[in-house]
Amino acid sequence: MAEETIFSKIINREIPADIVYEDDHALAFKDINPQAPVHLLIIPKQPIATINDIDDETAATVGHLYVVASKIAAEQGFAEDGYRCVMNCNEHGGQTVYHIHLHLLAGKPLGWPPYTDNKKQG
Ligand code: AMP
Repeated sequence: MAEETIFSKIINREIPADIVYEDDHALAFKDINPQAPVHLLIIPKQPIATINDIDDETAATVGHLYVVASKIAAEQGFAEDGYRCVMNCNEHGGQTVYHIHLHLLAGKPLGWPPYTDNKKQG
């Protein structure tokens, strides 16, 4: 399970965030460094550190993040235009916060492939 992270502090309202959605199992808020006109992070309230930690018990909790993504897309009006959901895993995946989170990016046509080389690796 995940250590205390900045995202558990957001869940516990110990630090502020621009929260756009909340239910019993998930929270969604605006990314502090947006990479698209809409860039939200959807996180489980249950702390799970990485994709590698997802198991049969937590699978439904993680699947629920996609239900939240589609609800937000419908509510905010970009479901039909489309959007992208991304979850990074560990260093090579570009993960920096070790409480899993689904990036929801929308609001313009998004390029593909999405990656650039990680600057830290030169
Ligand atoms: P990742 O690199 O996939 O682990 O994504 C972490 C994301 O969290 C990055 O896009 C950051 O901009 C974002 N982030 C970090 N701290 C905060 C914060 N306090 N509030 C909102 N987003 C944050």
